[in-house]
Amino acid sequence: DPVEWPTRDLLTHRVRTTPERIATVDADTGEATTYRELDARAGDAAVTVAELCATPGGTVATLVDTRPAVGPLLFGAMRVGATLAPLNVDLDPSSLSAQLTTLDADLLVCERETEALAARVADCPVVSVDDPERTGVNAMQSDTSGVDPVEVDRDTTQLVLFTSGTTSDPKGVRLTVGNLVASATASAFRLGVTPSDRWLVCLPTYHMGGLAPFVRTALYGSTVVVQREFDPSETARVLSECDVTGVSLVPTMLRRLVDSGWTPASELRFVLLGGGPASPALIDRCRERGVPVCPTYGMTETASQIATALPETAFDHRDTVGQPLVCTDVTVVDDGDPVGPGERGELVVDGPTVTPGYLDADRTEAAFGEYGFHTGDIGYRDEDGRLWVLGRVDDRIVTGGENVDASVVADAIRDCPGVEDAAVVGLADEEWGQRVAALVVGDVTAERVSDYCRDELAPYEVPKTVDVVDALPRTASGTVDRDAVRASLGD
Ligand code: ATP
Ligand code: MG
Repeated sequence: DPVEWPTRDLLTHRVRTTPERIATVDADTGEATTYRELDARAGDAAVTVAELCATPGGTVATLVDTRPAVGPLLFGAMRVGATLAPLNVDLDPSSLSAQLTTLDADLLVCERETEALAARVADCPVVSVDDPERTGVNAMQSDTSGVDPVEVDRDTTQLVLFTSGTTSDPKGVRLTVGNLVASATASAFRLGVTPSDRWLVCLPTYHMGGLAPFVRTALYGSTVVVQREFDPSETARVLSECDVTGVSLVPTMLRRLVDSGWTPASELRFVLLGGGPASPALIDRCRERGVPVCPTYGMTETASQIATALPETAFDHRDTVGQPLVCTDVTVVDDGDPVGPGERGELVVDGPTVTPGYLDADRTEAAFGEYGFHTGDIGYRDEDGRLWVLGRVDDRIVTGGENVDASVVADAIRDCPGVEDAAVVGLADEEWGQRVAALVVGDVTAERVSDYCRDELAPYEVPKTVDVVDALPRTASGTVDRDAVRASLGD
């Protein structure tokens, strides 16, 4: 039934309080959209969703990358109680078909760039946000009156997002309205928030890092600035011309931005840096340049941030990801038991941002334990609760009975002059059980890397195999594909 004041329809909440504030700026065209306009576009999207999808409860998959239309799609689906499932536009067609089947999607929304792909993979109706005939999802039109919002339960699955697929096939993660609101709230308590904030997104919106700012700015009543693709000089221009106050980046992007000579304007309050480890060298350069870097540790299963360091923390303790966000409990667990400060173990997370589970119930069952959700990441904390993430549980290489952390070896290799990047894995070995092997990118020889490792690492940590290559194999999301690394090293 329609409700007058749908408290879980985040956009309705916003538009009734501050309709004339700017919701979205398209950094590529300069077009700005108020909350009133965003609300109308979300209403249009809701009409289409309600027409083609059984609501509430249906599932709308999307093959739409970073653009302002992501907002209307998200809030349109939310308004009629449909689940939105943004798919990775760079994934191969057979994986996409499999994800659509797993989702049991009722509707696939694509855009010009993905129309052919969508037609190939979909087993359900397909509409394009760039089809001028489809007023309902075309973000440039707003001539329909919208639909009556439904009240959704706080625990209803609002989003399904797939993980990056670094350790296995991407897993479908369910996130609720409650998860999204909790994440936005906890993030604001760490980073601060003002109505004049402008948060730049140039990350893919089919991952949490790119999608979260759309949800958060709507809750905060601030502005999301949307840039289709990261580019060092273009992004530097947008940062200054659009008066950006916060931006989400992954370490490679920030490194390229800093390399290009960019220095931040005084309005910039935070560079939320996540998705993978930031090297201490990068943090040092940020300090020299006055970049307000906030290294963060997060994952799809926690609707993004688990812990975030403010610049002052990051500069003093270079590779920490800071304290957990408010209401997020992180327990370091080793052999089933919590361990104290300084001791390593798996990071286990509990709190209101944690997913109710994967689409696959068996995986859910396997991921939750006595202390909460098992992240699969290894780390430790200090006396003040600051966290360090060392790598993944299955990054641990056992060679001749010694435990080697692949990330420790990779970090050491990255510090070798000439090395740009490195990936370290364990290969099956008859004599040692596993042997340490490294794939290295850079202007350097394998001998040089081996010599450097002998100087810097314990003897058992020194890679027995080093190959220098042009580029590391990556997943569609840009993380290093460790199966492919193993294959390349001859496992
Ligand atoms: P899959 O779960 O399919 O293997 P994934 O874990 O890479 O893929 P995401 O949810 O996108 O998928 O990434 C979350 C992971 O990224 C974390 O579990 C952690 O391993 C890594 N990560 C995120 N931030 C950091 C960080 N600051 N330092 C180190 N690792 C990080
Ligand atoms: Mg994961």
